[in-house]
Amino acid sequence: MKLPGPFAITRIVDMEGPFRAPDFLFPDATPEAFAETKVSRDARFVDVAGKQLIMSFHSLIVRTERNVILVDTCVGNHKERPTLPDWHQRTDGQYLKNLAAVGLTPEAITHVLCTHLHADHVGWNTKLLNGRWVPTFPNAKYVMHAKEFEHADHAQRTADANTRHRFWDDSVQPILDAKQALIVAGDFEIEPGVRLQPAPGHTPGNIVLVLDDGKQRAYLVGDTIHHPVQIERPNWSSRFCWDANQSRLTRAKFLGEVADTGAWIIPAHFAPPCAVRVTSQTNGFWFNTAS
Ligand SMILES: [Zn+2]
Repeated sequence: MKLPGPFAITRIVDMEGPFRAPDFLFPDATPEAFAETKVSRDARFVDVAGKQLIMSFHSLIVRTERNVILVDTCVGNHKERPTLPDWHQRTDGQYLKNLAAVGLTPEAITHVLCTHLHADHVGWNTKLLNGRWVPTFPNAKYVMHAKEFEHADHAQRTADANTRHRFWDDSVQPILDAKQALIVAGDFEIEPGVRLQPAPGHTPGNIVLVLDDGKQRAYLVGDTIHHPVQIERPNWSSRFCWDANQSRLTRAKFLGEVADTGAWIIPAHFAPPCAVRVTSQTNGFWFNTAS
C-alpha cells in the first residue's frame, strides 16, 4: 500500500485487525471516557461491535534516489513471546511475501530503522535460519538511537531470567554479532531530507523519522502516537510507556508543531488509511485522512 508524502512511502503489513479494548492500551480510556470521543464511532479505527481498537503492525519503507529505508520491523515469526499469545511462536506471518509483492527483496534494503526497541518494532530484524537467528536484511545498516540502545542494553543486562526481554537475544544481539548495527545520535541524518528527531517518553530514546523532499514533509512517528484517539486525547499515554507524563508532553508538543502545516503523520500502528494530517481545534487537535 502506497502512502502519501515525500519520496515514495510504502506500507508492509505483519499483522492487523481488532487488537485490544481501549483501556487495555490506554488506562485513561475507560468505557465512558472512550465513548465520548469522536474516534470511538469511526469503524476504520475501532471495531465498534467488539469494542476493540483496530491496529496495524506494519513497516514503512521509504525509497529515495539513494536508499531503501525500512522503518520498524513489527512482530516477526518464530519468536518466543510466552506472555503474549498472539505474538508467540507465530509461523503465519506473511511479511516477507508482502515485501516481495511490492517488488523488494530483503537484499535491497539499505537501512533498517527501529524507532524504539520494543518487541513489536524489532521482530523482523532477524529470521530463523537452520536454528540460528540471522539478520533478515543482509545488506542493511540497522540504525538505533544510542540513548535507546543503552537503555535497552542496561535493562536486559540487569533483568533476572524470568523478566529478561527475549527480544534482545533473538532480534538485537544477532544484529550486533553480524556487525550491522549503526548506533547514532538523536539528530542523525541518513541522507539530506531524511533525519531522526528525538521524541522521548514512550521509551527514553524513542525517535521520529522526519522526511522532507523540499516539497512535502512527513513524520514517521513510531509509537509517539499509537492510535488516532490520541490525537483527540493527547493526554492518553499507553500502558507501555516508560514515562507516561513525558510521553504526553512530547505528544502534545509534537502535535502543536505539526498541526495545520500540511505535513503527513504516519505512525507504526494506525490502521488504513494510516496517514493523517493534524488540524488544531479550539480544544485540542483533530485530523484528516489520506482517503
Ligand atoms: Zn508498538
